[in-house]
Parts: sequence; structure tokens; C-alpha cells
Amino acid sequence: MTLTGALLVGLVLTLVEGGFAVVRERDKAERRIAQIMNLVAGPAATALWNFDTALARNQFEPVRTLDLVDRIEIRDMGGGIFAADGVAATAGSWTGFIFEGLLRAQRPLVNIAEDGRRREIGTLVLFIDPRAIGDDLRTYILGSLLGGLLRNLLLGAFLSVIFHRFLTRPLIALGRDLIRVRPAEPLASPIRVPRGHRNDELGYVASRINELLAQLHRSQTELRRLATRDPLTDLPNRVLMTETLNVALERAGRDGTHLALLFLDLDRFKHVNDSLGHGAGDNLLREVGGRLRGALRQSHVVGRLGGDEFLVVLENAGTVEEVAQAAARLLAALSRPFGIDGQVVHAGASIGIAMHPQDGADAVTLMRHADVAMYAAKAMGGGAFKFFDKAMTERALVMLRTEASLRDALAGDRLDVHYQPKIDLATGRLAGVEALVRWPHGDRMISPAEFIPVAEETGLIVELGEWVLRRASRDAAHWRHIHGAVTVAVNVSARQLAEPDFPERAVRIVSEAGLLPRQFILEITETVVMRDVAKQMAVLNALRGFGFGVAVDDFGTGYSSLAYLKQLPVTMLKIDRSFVNDLPEDSAIAATVIALGKRLGLTTIAEGVETDRQLEWLRAEGCMLAQGYLLAKPMPADQFERQFLMVMAKVG
Ligand code: C2E
Ligand code: MG
Ligand code: MG
Repeated sequence: MTLTGALLVGLVLTLVEGGFAVVRERDKAERRIAQIMNLVAGPAATALWNFDTALARNQFEPVRTLDLVDRIEIRDMGGGIFAADGVAATAGSWTGFIFEGLLRAQRPLVNIAEDGRRREIGTLVLFIDPRAIGDDLRTYILGSLLGGLLRNLLLGAFLSVIFHRFLTRPLIALGRDLIRVRPAEPLASPIRVPRGHRNDELGYVASRINELLAQLHRSQTELRRLATRDPLTDLPNRVLMTETLNVALERAGRDGTHLALLFLDLDRFKHVNDSLGHGAGDNLLREVGGRLRGALRQSHVVGRLGGDEFLVVLENAGTVEEVAQAAARLLAALSRPFGIDGQVVHAGASIGIAMHPQDGADAVTLMRHADVAMYAAKAMGGGAFKFFDKAMTERALVMLRTEASLRDALAGDRLDVHYQPKIDLATGRLAGVEALVRWPHGDRMISPAEFIPVAEETGLIVELGEWVLRRASRDAAHWRHIHGAVTVAVNVSARQLAEPDFPERAVRIVSEAGLLPRQFILEITETVVMRDVAKQMAVLNALRGFGFGVAVDDFGTGYSSLAYLKQLPVTMLKIDRSFVNDLPEDSAIAATVIALGKRLGLTTIAEGVETDRQLEWLRAEGCMLAQGYLLAKPMPADQFERQFLMVMAKVG
């Protein structure tokens, strides 16, 4: 392209130059012809006047030697040829066309009489050789044409390289970047400033485009914000909340996680609006928005649907209890009085909760059910939350109450630990005890089956577990001092194991009582051990490293992989009560576990032994230890001390 252009321009230039050369050559030829005329005209006139043909011929001699003139003629007034020499060139040469009009030059021959009068007596005619004038021109034109062409070719090539390198290539790169720009996401692929062009026009264009893209992005963000945010509270509006909910539902469906939708409505908003005015109402809504946001985790989303209605989406909601806790937190945040325009305002709120997938699969159904539940909460007088599923509300309330009083009991040291002896089946001697937490409540004892799950779900189990271990260590230290060492088993929950420094903390607790970890067995439920073997392996190794024994509790209820079991650093298998219960009629599993324990060199123990027949079967089968109501129920520490340590009872 550039090359062709340069050639064309060169051609035009050459033609123009050629034109000038023609004019110049014509000029030159004219001047030479005039010189010849001047030279010859005088003597020719004299020769004609005197009819002296010899003189005329003499004049022709020098002229004919000039290449320029082909033929020379002297004519009389009648046009007759008086004298002539040479042959006129035939026309048709290319220069003939250019020098048209020059090729035949004539001049009148004049005789000047004695009185000085001039009289025309004839004509001198010169026939010019067009080749003679053309030669120079041709040489010139050919030279300048070829030279010019070559020069222009080189120039063109040079220019195209320069153009390509400094203009075309960066422009193409720029164009490519421009094509890549997606208007929906203008900042995703910015225009790259071509290398080396930072400070020139190209660089300027690129950075200007980038500025424009950034501006576009800002406007889009602002537009989106305006379209999806509630201007009053700056929370997501209904549009964005619906979108968020749909995305969250899709994710929950895919990952199989739970999702909770909380529909929140202020209890006394209308009252505030009516009595303090809409300005105060707006201020209250703003405050409410801020408090809701503050009461939620980062991953939870709260938005305003309009009026005094808010919507909260809890992704990865966990259990009903955890959802209830979040709802309670929101209610607590709104139950504190608001200071609006110098007035104290009590707003309060009612919350309706719908759970995915239990209460509905899609956004519309969940919203409707959350709304229904919210009205139920309002009907109860407000200031409360309700699940769409009534049973969930019950469960949640029990849980919340349980958690509160359990926390209280723990803080007030009002929990207790009972001990259940483990008996060696070969010798009938005491082989150790299992520490089981007890919660005395009024005149009854709340079962661990009731509050351990709550403690697990609320995370209180970590604190509770440490409390039990501390109490058990203290009791064990006391017994040891008086009666000698007793092996103490303590139950450990999944949450405790997940604490990053659990092994170190456990060591610290037992050593604070002056004991060594090897006097303790940590009982971990089979399902917990097998849940994430790779992770547990590290923790169990650490515990074993410190000297703790590790028992797999409730063995047989989970799905232990034998391969894993072989690798896991455990010391004891505890046959679950349900299998012991079936003995001796249905003994396959118990027999298998005992055989497995022997094979792997692990201690086997049967829990929940209630009958003599069970005990007999276990002893015959080679089970090493037994624990159960038949032998002894869990009992307070002092009773255990009296019955077992002072007497060292024997069985069988
Ligand atoms: P577990 O560790 O399997 O404890 C054995 C349970 O079986 C105890 O119930 C015990 O009282 C009961 N038991 C013992 N012998 C018999 C029997 O012959 N027949 C029957 N029917 N039951 C028997 P408990 O004390 O109610 O504890 C229930 C569960 O609560 C325990 O199961 C354990 O998983 C958990 N737990 C108890 N204390 C703690 C603790 O301090 N921390 C943790 N994380 N969990 C605990
Ligand atoms: Mg146990
Ligand atoms: Mg058990």
C-alpha cells in the first residue's frame, strides 16, 4: 500500500520534472535555431540577391555540419527553391510530437538598399532534426525517470517499514485491544499503551481511551448502584435481593447447603411515622439498616424491600439453631432503643423464617412462606421470630433457652461429671473410668443427649469439653494421690478436635493437675474420626505423641474404612451399645469388631452391657473390657471412690 503510494507519487513527480525538462529543452532548441538563423540569414539574403548559388552553398556548409539542421532551403518570393541542401527527416519520432512547431523554422530574407530601405526578397527555411533536440531530452528523461523510480522505490520501502513499525503495528495492537473491550465490563481488558509510545500521540490516544473506559465503568457502577440500592439505607433493594436470592438458591442447590430466608418487618414503624413525621421515619429506617448490617456476618446479605420490610439471606445457614441465633441477634439489635431526632424510639421487629429446601425450592415460595411466618410472629405480639415450619420454631426456642442456661451453668460451675467404671473381663478388676458430663437442673438431671448437641451446634462444646477434662483431671489427681492411678476416658467432640491447638490445650489441662496424658483416653466418635481422616490423622498423631490414648467411640455405627483404621493412631475400639444390646443372638458385628481389634492390636471394649448373657458372650469371645449398667452405672466421683477405689470390687 505505502509502497504503491510512494511509487505513484514518484511517477507523478518524475512526470512533472519531465515536463519542465521539455520546456527547458524547447527553449534551448529555439535559442540555437535563432542563433543559426542570425548566422545564416545575412549571407543567404546576399546570395539570393546576387543569384550566387555558390555563395548560398557556402553558407550551407557550416550549418549542415551542425546535427541540429536536417535541410536548409533558400526560397524566392514566389516560393520557388533557389538553393537547398539536405533531406528533411520523416516525421513520427516521439520527439516530433513534443517539438511540434519547432521543426520547421523560417525567417524572411531581407535586402537593405543603399537608401536604407528594407525589402523582403525571399525566405530562409530550416528543417530541424527532431532527434537532435530529442536526444538530450530522452537521456535526461530516461535517467531521471529510472533514477527517480529507484529513489522512490527505496523511499517507499523505507517509509513503509517506518510506517509499519511506528504506526501500523501499534495501531493494529490498539485496534485489537479495542475489539476486546466488553462494554458491559469496560475495565476487564484495558487498552495497552503500545511499547515506546507512552509519550506520543498514540500513547495519548490509548490512555485517553482508558480514561473513557474508566469513566464508563464509573457511570455503569453508579447506574447499577442506583438501580439496585435502596437510596435511603444504601442496602440492596428488592431487585438486587431477588437476584441475590436466586443466585444463592442455585448455589445451595448445587452444593447441598442450607439457606435461610428471613423476612423482617418493624413492629412500630407506622407509629413513628405518624407521630414524628416521615423525616424521623426515614432516619429510623437508616438506623435500622445499619444495625441489621452490623448484626450479620459478612457473608450474609440484608436488603430493604420497601417500607419497613427487610429481607435477610443466610447462605450456608447450618442448622435451625444457628439460623435462630442469627434471628435472635437481629431482634436484639433492634430491641435497643433508637435516638431519632432527639426522641427515644422503640422500634422492635418481627421475623419470619423460611428454610431452603424444607420450606420451598424457589424464591417466590420461600418469600411467601417467610412472609406468612412473619405475620405469625406479629400475631404473637411482635418482637419475635417464627419459622414457617412450627416444629422448627419449637426446636429453635428450646435450643436458644438451653444454650443460654447451659452457658450460665458452665460459667457458674454448676455442671458435674459422673464416672462409669470399665472392667477388665479377664481379671474382673477395674480397668478405668469414663467421665460423663451431668447437668443437674432443679431436682432432675438433664441428659447429655439433650444438651451435648446444643453445645455442639453453638460451639459451647469447646468450653464445656475443656471444663470436663479439667474436672476429670482434678478428680483423677485426687484418686491417684490416695489410691493410685486410674485411667480416665473423656469424650471429645468434633468441634474440639477442629480447634487448631486442641492437643496442646489438652496437655496443659492434665498437666495443671499434675498428671501425664498417658493416664487419659480421649473417646472420639467413629463418625467424627472418619469424617475427614486426613485432617484427623494429624491431630490424632499429635495426641498420641503426647501420650494420650485414643478410643474410637460408638464403633460399628459409622463406616470405618479398614484401610484407614489400620493407619489411624488409635488404641481402643469401643463396640457401640446397639450391637452389645443384640447379644448373644445377633453377634456378627460384635464378633467382627473383637476379631478386628485383636488383629490390629487394639484394646476392645463393649459399652452398654446390661445382662449376664451379654457379659458371658463377650468374655468367651475375648473382648477385653466391658462397661455398662450391669457392672456399674455412671456415678458421682465420691461414690465411685467409695465403691471402687476403696474396695476394688471384683466381678464374675
Ligand atoms: P458415650 O460416650 O457413648 O457414653 C456412653 C453412654 O451410654 C452414656 O450416656 C452412659 O450413661 C450410657 N450407658 C452406659 N452404660 C449403659 C448401659 O448399660 N445401658 C444404657 N442404656 N446406657 C448406658 P450419657 O452419659 O447419657 O452420655 C451420652 C453421650 O453424651 C455419650 O455417649 C457421649 O457421646 C456424650 N457425652 C457425655 N459426656 C460428654 C462430654 O463430657 N463431652 C462430650 N463431648 N460428650 C459427652
Ligand atoms: Mg464415650
Ligand atoms: Mg459410646
